[in-house]
Amino acid sequence: MSIVSNSLKRIKPSPTIAVTSKAREMRAAGRDVIGLGAGEPDFDTPDNIKEAAIKAIKIGDTKYTAVDGTPALKKAIRAKFQRENNLSYDLDQISVGTGGKQVLYNAFMSTINKGDEVIIPAPYWVSYPDIILLAGGNPKIVKCDEKDGFKITPIKLKKAISKKTKWIIINSPSNPTGSAYTKEEIIELSKILIKYKNIYILSDDIYEHITYDNFNFFTIAQIESLKERTLTMNGVSKSYSMTGWRIGYAAGPKEIIKAMAKIQSQSTSNPTSISQAAAVEALNGTQDFIKERANSFKERRDFVVDSLNEIKGINCLKPEGAFYVFPSCKKLLGNKTKLKTDKDFVEKLLEKSEVAVVQGSAFGLNGYFRISYATSKENLKNAMQRIKIFCENLT
Ligand SMILES: *Cc1c(COP(=O)(O)O)cnc(C)c1O
Repeated sequence: MSIVSNSLKRIKPSPTIAVTSKAREMRAAGRDVIGLGAGEPDFDTPDNIKEAAIKAIKIGDTKYTAVDGTPALKKAIRAKFQRENNLSYDLDQISVGTGGKQVLYNAFMSTINKGDEVIIPAPYWVSYPDIILLAGGNPKIVKCDEKDGFKITPIKLKKAISKKTKWIIINSPSNPTGSAYTKEEIIELSKILIKYKNIYILSDDIYEHITYDNFNFFTIAQIESLKERTLTMNGVSKSYSMTGWRIGYAAGPKEIIKAMAKIQSQSTSNPTSISQAAAVEALNGTQDFIKERANSFKERRDFVVDSLNEIKGINCLKPEGAFYVFPSCKKLLGNKTKLKTDKDFVEKLLEKSEVAVVQGSAFGLNGYFRISYATSKENLKNAMQRIKIFCENLT
């Protein structure tokens, strides 16, 4: 008998972290690998935010705080929802955790009973199914089509709902596809969800601020009759280039928020006091750099999408947000290239051309791969050239 628990045996380590480690190993061995696997902005945390953290240290803001967030940070989050999403919450409807990931973990751990189902549109962020498995639930994966922008349609949603459905996860803009739901699309989905009063909605809005071409961000809690069943997760990692600071948050039903705090009180307790002070400045301070940074991402998106679509055998949608694209490599799989799966494609690309990307199957959809373009234009140029030569030499 293994010492490892049965519930742990249900889950696997993050495949995106696996690719990043492999690339790091190759680099350490002297190989010139371009990493397009990472899921974080390449910008530094803005100075005003760093200064707020330094100040917090100096004034002794270095003790335990309230388990699920300081009053100052909860107020800043409340103001953010009001200002940016036109959503009103009380402070006891807000929870702060050690990154969005812990917030999701708290939410599912505190609400899922054995056998409960959670609808997850695929391609999905890699942590959703495994957190749900760890909580004893069953992910109900719904494969979404490229022709639908990799988004779940009302028909597919309706078909996926069962008596056991407890939650549905909506992630817009999406990791790994960059696709975002329009207001109209959210309204169409909400017409179905309104009828199923026992289903809760988890909206992962972490990429809210990274959208392009005047996309109008809309979140499902803005549908009045669904607000009381929606937990909206967000955080400072992506919007403010603060991945290492570990601050995420959620707003929603009091009962869930309270349950989440209970889990956190018996696991990590409060997120770092210093990071919380920095997050207050992130949310209350200047927001000017957000647009500038999004513009820089947009330029890179356009370059990457155009370059990929020039490669024979590769097709790539132009997504609305985030810093990922999710091109198809289906035409390059088969007898002619001797590559059977997207995983074969990705492994050979890394081995032969030294470009690290992640296979679509890691996100629940075969025949694709994810590129993160949160890296320098120089790197992207070289990587696109390498991918082109690699693909041309396959056939
Ligand atoms: C990065 C990310 C998160 C959360 O990241 P944290 O660093 O834990 O705040 C959540 N959802 C998606 C889809 C992400 O890409």
